[in-house]
Amino acid sequence: MSAILAVEKLSVSFDGFRAVDELDFSVEQNELRVVIGPNGAGKTTLLDMICGKTRPLAGSIRFKGRDLTSLSEHEIVRAGVGRKFQTPSTYEHLSVFENLEISYPRHRGVLGSLFFRRGPEVTERIREVAGEVFLSEQLEVTAGTLSHGQRQWLEIGMLLMQDPELLLLDEPVAGMTSRERQRTGELLLRISRNRSVVVIEHDMDFVKSIASKVTVLHQGKLLSEGPLEQVQCDERVIEVYLGH
Ligand code: ADP
Ligand code: MG
Repeated sequence: MSAILAVEKLSVSFDGFRAVDELDFSVEQNELRVVIGPNGAGKTTLLDMICGKTRPLAGSIRFKGRDLTSLSEHEIVRAGVGRKFQTPSTYEHLSVFENLEISYPRHRGVLGSLFFRRGPEVTERIREVAGEVFLSEQLEVTAGTLSHGQRQWLEIGMLLMQDPELLLLDEPVAGMTSRERQRTGELLLRISRNRSVVVIEHDMDFVKSIASKVTVLHQGKLLSEGPLEQVQCDERVIEVYLGH
């Protein structure tokens, strides 16, 4: 299998501090990968560089063979990479339906939104995605009144509207109830059947429920990688992370 995402010798510094340090990281097609590591390990910074928010100091990021480091954030989205940040960024005053609608790719660019007419295929897609993220019954509900977990799902739904081939999720289950976590695990397993997903997560029970392969970062470097059971037994991991 060839990697859909291949990160090589990636580095970035903030005021001389190496937040990510010569990191190699690759993800296969239709893989669900979990990235763990203590606070400050460089997990969010890694996603920031993949989605073009932060420019690397050195190294390469290839997505389907294409170098992402020279593309803008918008170009990276259009190339098929969707990114969810730690805090939900839904439009509070709009309904779930409208939030999904404005995420439909035809809305991109000024002309796209000016001449946009909602066709049946758009409504169909909105209903389909709402179903995927457990919000079928909430389509007319204002996003601001959703529970925290439902807003996280809505944001994942907004990304799914763009049908990305690679989805990057930063701590999506933080603040969720255990039932919401469980459903999110099901959601991630389902959506990774036909796309690649990278999810940063702290909660080890959650990781256990979804993980196929885990990458552990520490001080900007790769500390350990493999199945959860293997990573959990790794002395280096126990020392810096799980043992605490
Ligand atoms: P994680 O997500 O693993 O908790 P981060 O990637 O957010 O870690 O941060 C890694 C390190 O880089 C931390 O020490 C953090 O303070 C630092 N850092 C991250 N972003 C910036 C920035 N924009 N400016 C300065 N330092 C930053
Ligand atoms: Mg982070």
